[in-house]
Amino acid sequence: MTMDGAFRVIAAVTTDTVRGALAAQGLIDDVGLRLGELMTGAVLLRETTQPARRVQVSLRDRHGGTLVADALPDGANRGIANPGSDEPVEAAGDHLLKVHYTLPNGALHQGVIGVPDGEDMSAALMRYLHQSEQILSMTGVAALPGPDGVRVAGGYVIQLLPEATREVIDVMTDHVGTLEPIAHLLEGRAPTPELLIATIMGDLEHQELARSPLHFGCTCSEARVMGSILTLPEDEIASILAGDPLEVRCDACGRGYVVEPEDLRDFRAMRAGGARA
Ligand SMILES: [Zn+2]
Repeated sequence: MTMDGAFRVIAAVTTDTVRGALAAQGLIDDVGLRLGELMTGAVLLRETTQPARRVQVSLRDRHGGTLVADALPDGANRGIANPGSDEPVEAAGDHLLKVHYTLPNGALHQGVIGVPDGEDMSAALMRYLHQSEQILSMTGVAALPGPDGVRVAGGYVIQLLPEATREVIDVMTDHVGTLEPIAHLLEGRAPTPELLIATIMGDLEHQELARSPLHFGCTCSEARVMGSILTLPEDEIASILAGDPLEVRCDACGRGYVVEPEDLRDFRAMRAGGARA
């Protein structure tokens, strides 16, 4: 944050995180890069608006194909291309950007904006922040193609705070206007979050408020897998319980689970017991 309380800059380098997701999804094309930008956007939105909460951001094409990025408060992030379907997601064309998280009072916040064909993720995130969160910002995100689907990914949000005067806003706007695009910064003079912040702040006096770790990670577990099986219709559960071990693959991280009918039976009994207690 600047010492005068006018701006806050949040920066993230997400290359390894995105690479983990692309490897799990088997994505090495433009859709993977869009997913990388979306995951970077999810990290930045979470840190800007709801650092203590899980923030999910999705980008849906005209045919319903969807990219989903999940940013968790412990720094774990995952990205999924079209969960539950083999249809490809369109990298170009009109999209809907949807952001949701749970507010401290338990209510669900959901913000949706249309992303017209040709508008990049930086502009879409900036517009989302303005329209849904009433946050004025300058935002840049990029994911660039490379051997494992992405060679570099990252971004920043420059958030305008209530203390900002017209004068200092003009100084920052002029300065940011002279900077290279985020893709060039990440591959050039600002390859780390520290250097990104220093470059964006320029001559403005500032102090570091916080830093948080980031990694590719998933929320799946054997218990969650079994829990989702138990949401199936009763006759399907019965046939799983009477059948062979069931192989389940997590859509997000690719981890495989083998659910033994016996374990599922025990799990259901335990849950039913817990519900009575
Ligand atoms: Zn998983």
